[in-house]
Amino acid sequence: AKAMGRNTLRFFDPQMQAVVTARASLEKDLREALQRNQLRLFYQPQVDAAGAVIGAEALVRWQHPQRGFVSPAEFIPLAEETGLILPLGLWVLESACAQLAVWAEQVGTRRFTVSVNVSARQFRQPNFVDQVLAVLASSGADPQRLKLELTESMLLDNVQGMIDRMGTLKDHGVGFSLDDFGTGYSSLSYLKRLPLDQLKIDQSFVRDLLTDPNDEVIARTIIALASTLGLSVIAEGVETAAQRDALAAQGCHAYQGYLFSRPLPVADFDAFLAGSRES
Ligand code: C2E
Ligand code: CA
Ligand code: CA
Ligand code: CA
Repeated sequence: AKAMGRNTLRFFDPQMQAVVTARASLEKDLREALQRNQLRLFYQPQVDAAGAVIGAEALVRWQHPQRGFVSPAEFIPLAEETGLILPLGLWVLESACAQLAVWAEQVGTRRFTVSVNVSARQFRQPNFVDQVLAVLASSGADPQRLKLELTESMLLDNVQGMIDRMGTLKDHGVGFSLDDFGTGYSSLSYLKRLPLDQLKIDQSFVRDLLTDPNDEVIARTIIALASTLGLSVIAEGVETAAQRDALAAQGCHAYQGYLFSRPLPVADFDAFLAGSRES
């Protein structure tokens, strides 16, 4: 009885109760956000060594009428836990592909891809491949211009299933980038088996590139690894010209970060794209 009393006490801990309530309310709001069209996609430019735009990463934003701007770092994990990531991820894919079809007309034959983040739970869905192919077909987006960003944590279970799914999409032209590379624990043998196109150097290694010799070695190793495996490489979180130059000296030729631009709403991205074309 004593133990039970303690548990009961703990259950009614007002602080914990507040956390549970806050989460439940956030979950309810997120559900509504999907229905009420409160989510937006921003696009962050990806540029080559000359600063020309070669692509964009789609990043979701939630504009809540009372809470204001809610960061994806806050609601994506919740969406993953609750399963809301499935409708949310589909919405992101549909919006990004619709936008990609529009941009493809503007860029003509020039190189330009849109990268979409895919969460583990979304990618594991049995009908994920069909979903992507259906969205590509109905949006009219060119599969060759779509990149899906996966993370190393997805490699923990059923690698063969993952390889098969990637292979089918790759046969249709879809590309794959391994996001936040270096922060997880992918073995080199998996890396060789996965039909990847790109490694994305995580911003945590870029941040202290010039001051932390470990990060410098990690960045250099990732760039060399990509080259050995025949993959392209892009660095994220590039904030200074010095970081860009250090990465360029090591053989990296694609960048994303505040040095070039923050993630932008479509209208601002259009202006950025037009400006980059003139220069
Ligand atoms: P991520 O995929 O690693 O995205 C990069 C994050 O770094 C973005 O944060 C971006 O705004 C930020 N960033 C870009 N350049 C710089 C820079 O120069 N310096 C610094 N300090 N930060 C920079 P954001 O937009 O808040 O997204 C956070 C995370 O939320 C993303 O990390 C991604 O894991 C997740 N996420 C965002 N959109 C989606 C989505 O549509 N689907 C899924 N599954 N996850 C998403
Ligand atoms: Ca990403
Ligand atoms: Ca990333
Ligand atoms: Ca990251």
